[in-house]
Amino acid sequence: MELYDVIIIGGGIAGLQASIQLGRYDRRVLVVDRGLGRSTRCLKYRNILGWPEGVSGKDLRQIGIEQAEALGVTHVTENVTNVHRHSPEQFQIATENGNTFEARRLLFATGVSDQNPFPQLEPCFGLSVYICPDCDGHEVENEPTLILGSGKAGVHMPSAFTGGRATSHTLTTRKNPFVSKINRN
Ligand SMILES: Cc1cc2nc3c(=O)[nH]c(=O)nc-3n(C[C@H](O)[C@H](O)[C@H](O)COP(=O)(O)OP(=O)(O)OC[C@H]3O[C@@H](n4cnc5c(N)ncnc54)[C@H](O)[C@@H]3O)c2cc1C
Repeated sequence: MELYDVIIIGGGIAGLQASIQLGRYDRRVLVVDRGLGRSTRCLKYRNILGWPEGVSGKDLRQIGIEQAEALGVTHVTENVTNVHRHSPEQFQIATENGNTFEARRLLFATGVSDQNPFPQLEPCFGLSVYICPDCDGHEVENEPTLILGSGKAGVHMPSAFTGGRATSHTLTTRKNPFVSKINRN
């Protein structure tokens, strides 16, 4: 079995960027990615250097895979289900399909996952429904905006958008999502 220098678990933006750098260091690198992550859910990044018109996560990942493969990085679509350390310099990972791979180092780039109570909104992500005021606040500037959320973050969201100038919002119970409508002047 081939012993890689590094296996990167997770081939989103972070994992692919790391694989490109390690590829440039002439390391034998394997990226193992199960295919679905935050970057696959973003239909348009608009705050990325070099993409003034925006780029989808899917396209960005595909470009990243090609850039990494040109540097000798191997990419497989598999779900990692188990990790075992044989020795300080030898790790083995196992996947759902029953495959195993070995490396001297492991890099976890598995990201985080969102809890979306409204899966039916996913086709609108990045187009007319946004999940992040920092990434996408600019897109709704001067637009009437409906905010869905809960808890502390939800309560503070209207002021994040309006600099404290929100003129109205409606709250339901803490357990349920609240709906807040911002009227902009
Ligand atoms: C709808 C949406 C819109 C966004 N918009 C923006 C934006 O406009 N601008 C911006 O800067 N950021 C935006 N973000 C955030 C951005 O997408 C994330 O910060 C970025 O994707 C993080 O990259 P990552 O590589 O850490 O994680 P991810 O992109 O989530 O990649 C992690 C990868 O690890 C894989 N993985 C996890 N566990 C395993 C396992 N056991 N085996 C194999 N693979 C595994 C997943 O399949 C996934 O492909 C947005 C996020 C969402 C959800």
